[in-house]
Amino acid sequence: MHFNKNCFGEGKDSIASFHTHPNTGKDFQQEPSLTDIRAVRDDPDLKGEFYLGEIVISRENIYLIEPSGQVTVIGKTEDYLES
Ligand SMILES: [Zn+2]
Repeated sequence: MHFNKNCFGEGKDSIASFHTHPNTGKDFQQEPSLTDIRAVRDDPDLKGEFYLGEIVISRENIYLIEPSGQVTVIGKTEDYLES
């Protein structure tokens, strides 16, 4: 599910966008998919000066896909979000 794209925008440059991975079981892929990475890397609308990247919230971890396509783990989801 992808939603709230550019939700931080409000007419100004976006600083981030995000989507969740609704696949809540341990058997499902947690990390951003290749499709996710390509979508960020190849989207010319996501190259604003202040754009940090796409945040992917999965069950285990929160990831950041940088505009370059680099993926980094921000931290454990449970440390950031109450379940
Ligand atoms: Zn995804």
